[in-house]
Amino acid sequence: MQKFGNMLSYENQGVPFLHLSSFEKQAWLNHAFATRLGGVSTGVYAAMNLGFGRGDSEKAVLENYRRFCSAAGFSIENLVATAQTHQTRILRVGASERGAGILRPKPWHDIDGLVTNEAEVSLCVYGADCVPLLFADPVQRAIGVAHAGWRGTAAGIAAVTVSAMEREFGTRANDLLVGIGPSIGPCCFEVDEPVVQAFLRVSVLADAHCITEQGNGKWKIDLWEANAQILRCAGVRQIEKGMLCTRCHPDLLWSHRATGGKRGGMCGILSIRG
Ligand SMILES: [Zn+2]
Repeated sequence: MQKFGNMLSYENQGVPFLHLSSFEKQAWLNHAFATRLGGVSTGVYAAMNLGFGRGDSEKAVLENYRRFCSAAGFSIENLVATAQTHQTRILRVGASERGAGILRPKPWHDIDGLVTNEAEVSLCVYGADCVPLLFADPVQRAIGVAHAGWRGTAAGIAAVTVSAMEREFGTRANDLLVGIGPSIGPCCFEVDEPVVQAFLRVSVLADAHCITEQGNGKWKIDLWEANAQILRCAGVRQIEKGMLCTRCHPDLLWSHRATGGKRGGMCGILSIRG
């Protein structure tokens, strides 16, 4: 086991994967984040590309899923994929949705978050700089994932996911554990004014110390802290930041900015054990 940022790195069958220590301690859960290593894709997708529809061969992507799932303890048949478009719609899924978006086409669009309380329904969330969020309610035994790029972060998808779990499962925010996976860090997420304005319009972020002016018409935004602040305002107390920046680790992780968009995609998976 190695440590990257706050995250624990393991390797099984030649495939590395990452854990958050707080989620690892939850024996009722299995979770893992992929890296860009250990897959069969070639060229700009080398090697562990888990993004369909990026131009890579579908056969290679499926084989990557098989390898990643086998290494990290998931069944490919149980995966359910999001349909991320930087919005805030959350979908409740169950056993009948297993395989959607991986082994068969997904019947939904514009879904940036998934929630379930069924075991062996493995929720996938994608990113290559965008922030993947994992949610676990050990009291109601319910879970969720959400994709928070800067748009989703500013639109409050973290809080929308908490609300969805409250509504669907009777979750109390107080009981929730939320994990922040590998994504672009405050060190590297430089933006210009329109993005900053979008954050300043969110009252809980305006004074939250997640924006730093660089002085050259550029700002840096801390998406990890922005999501954490939104979660705290929603009543969540247990938040673990992985503190692992994709842009700083281009040999280990997919980063949209580091590759100029010519890249594969990473996946985080969370499921309730059967
Ligand atoms: Zn960085």
